[in-house]
Amino acid sequence: MAWMTFDSPGTEVGWQTDTQEASQALIEFAGRQCYLSWHNPSGRNNREYIENMLKQGHYSVIEHGVASFWIRGISRACSHEIVRHRHFSYSQLSQRYVASEDIEMVIPPLVADDPELVEEFRALQQQAIQVYRKAVERLSEKLADHKPFQRRKMAREAARYVLPEGSETALVMTGNFRAWRHFIHMRASQQAMPEMRLVAAQALQQLQEKFPAVFGDFSLQQLPDGTYEAISQYHEM
Ligand SMILES: Cc1cc2nc3c(=O)[nH]c(=O)nc-3n(C[C@H](O)[C@H](O)[C@H](O)COP(=O)(O)OP(=O)(O)OC[C@H]3O[C@@H](n4cnc5c(N)ncnc54)[C@H](O)[C@@H]3O)c2cc1C
Repeated sequence: MAWMTFDSPGTEVGWQTDTQEASQALIEFAGRQCYLSWHNPSGRNNREYIENMLKQGHYSVIEHGVASFWIRGISRACSHEIVRHRHFSYSQLSQRYVASEDIEMVIPPLVADDPELVEEFRALQQQAIQVYRKAVERLSEKLADHKPFQRRKMAREAARYVLPEGSETALVMTGNFRAWRHFIHMRASQQAMPEMRLVAAQALQQLQEKFPAVFGDFSLQQLPDGTYEAISQYHEM
């Protein structure tokens, strides 16, 4: 959802590139600056140049490229796993400042195939929301001597303890390309849970479209459950 611009100092050093994409241009510029190879002795275009750096394991150069995603409709179970990745910046929907009374619940793909289980999940989720509403109301009364804003926040932050891990959430996630590659390796993987695989595979598809030089080596292979695993020809970074 957010991409960078690059004000190229290329004319100062006699360098130009064939990519229109700012992040990829910056990565090439940073790499060439290491070796003062402005005159392009190997005759590589931008994509070939970046691919060669990845092949050689010169991964830190792709840290100059950054991408942000707005990830919505995921469960708190999924977001909890996402935020374990420490090289990203996150801004997540607050359960303290925002009411969860009308919150949607995420049903995991495996459960979605079983109507009886779906019904039981939904019933329990509804019950949790009812208790949540009741708790907000009663705690707000109990906190009557607090200012309305404080009262609502304190009531919600206590009431939310009853909400299930399937509660829907949203977050903005920003990280450099190296962090994204690592995230995709770990999470668009057979070992990851299906909801995470969906997030990671969708992020990869968008990153590949926008930054083919940095993410073009990944291929997506469909798994028996219909989700995708990402396979790369380079080492995990
Ligand atoms: C299939 C699967 C099962 C999992 N099961 C569990 C589980 O049961 N319990 C659990 O708690 N977690 C579990 N996790 C989460 C996992 O342990 C990691 O916390 C998470 O995947 C983040 O990835 P990362 O550690 O590679 O770090 P990131 O934060 O994504 O960092 C990327 C890389 O940077 C380096 N790095 C970052 N921080 C440090 C540091 N402090 N010191 C040294 N190097 C660092 C490492 O090389 C790391 O791989 C699981 C993950 C997966 C994919």
